[in-house]
Amino acid sequence: MRVQYNYLPNEFEDVTSILAKWEKLIRSTEFTLGPFVEEFESAFSTYVGAKHCISTNNGTDALILALKSLGVGYGDEVISVSNTFYASIGAIVACGATPVLVDCDDRYQIDPLRVKSAINSKTKAILPVHWAGASPDMDQILSIADEHGLLIIEDACMGIGGSWRGQHPGTFGNVGAFSMHPLKSLNVMGDGGMVVTNDDKVASWMRMYRNHGMKNRDEIEIWGVNMRLQPLQAIVAMEQLNKLNDTVLKRGVNASMLDHELDSVSPYIKTPSRLGHNKETFSLYMCLAENRDELLAFLHEKGVEAKVHYPIPLHKQNAANNDCIIDRMMDKVEYQASRLITLPIHQFLSKEQVQYTGEVIREFYQ
Ligand SMILES: *Cc1c(COP(=O)(O)O)cnc(C)c1O
Repeated sequence: MRVQYNYLPNEFEDVTSILAKWEKLIRSTEFTLGPFVEEFESAFSTYVGAKHCISTNNGTDALILALKSLGVGYGDEVISVSNTFYASIGAIVACGATPVLVDCDDRYQIDPLRVKSAINSKTKAILPVHWAGASPDMDQILSIADEHGLLIIEDACMGIGGSWRGQHPGTFGNVGAFSMHPLKSLNVMGDGGMVVTNDDKVASWMRMYRNHGMKNRDEIEIWGVNMRLQPLQAIVAMEQLNKLNDTVLKRGVNASMLDHELDSVSPYIKTPSRLGHNKETFSLYMCLAENRDELLAFLHEKGVEAKVHYPIPLHKQNAANNDCIIDRMMDKVEYQASRLITLPIHQFLSKEQVQYTGEVIREFYQ
């Protein structure tokens, strides 16, 4: 049996309705921003429950736009976590600010206690990541930020469709950033991203900066850039948004099934605790495995396309030698880096494929 990691061939098997809308777009020649982009932005802000949504060309630019909109720049420290995708930290450096990398907890989420201890007079913001589609302890992060007067920029790139106490990731802080890369819970046929905020001023700054700082065709207010979402992708995003709840539901069902399949090998495989008040998107289904590399090879041999996110924590990357402050305690991130394994969990897997994944893992440890 094969258990594929890549779900894109299934997802885009039938593109009739996308093609019909693309034809409408092509005839309209509304190729920069325009009604298709606006329709998606408005639907997305309703979906997540934020006042403003500004779409961007990818998630990395969404993070850069979010940081810049709040004036994060040279001389500022931004606290984030060492087990995240490169872009969370790359975006901070791109704004001229200094990332401060801290450890995570047992759920692979940024550890609020380490955040607290990393705060000093240069700290301007916290950049929590909703890693793998689960959420960090937003209650604690909000209260720390409040106590110290810090901004919050959420990296909710993997969190579209999730919730923390019923509230959508990306809507807790000042600005939230999302990605629609093909491997995220809401994905397009290439790159796409968004920022959301409830702050009118910040929203209008982001809208301008994204589009050359233009107030209108003839006047610019600030020096901006071009971070616009392609209307072709806005159409795909709109279709995907309509399927999102179903996608997240199916992934959740598969994840529960896999959690259960792995119960009996619990000395060797540890799944993170699932909090009742945190609906996860399962952008990644990760667990900790003894003899990870041997297990990975065994799974591949048996046709299960498992992956590792990621074998080298960010504070151990060459790039972190410059421009980064690294907290002295990185025990969990380092422990997890040699044990984490990502198993296929997507919405197109059959029950048999999920059960087979469990069987192969049990066979390995017997
Ligand atoms: C995917 C991702 C990004 C970057 O998004 P792109 O759209 O690929 O630029 C940033 N942060 C996290 C946590 C991500 O998963």
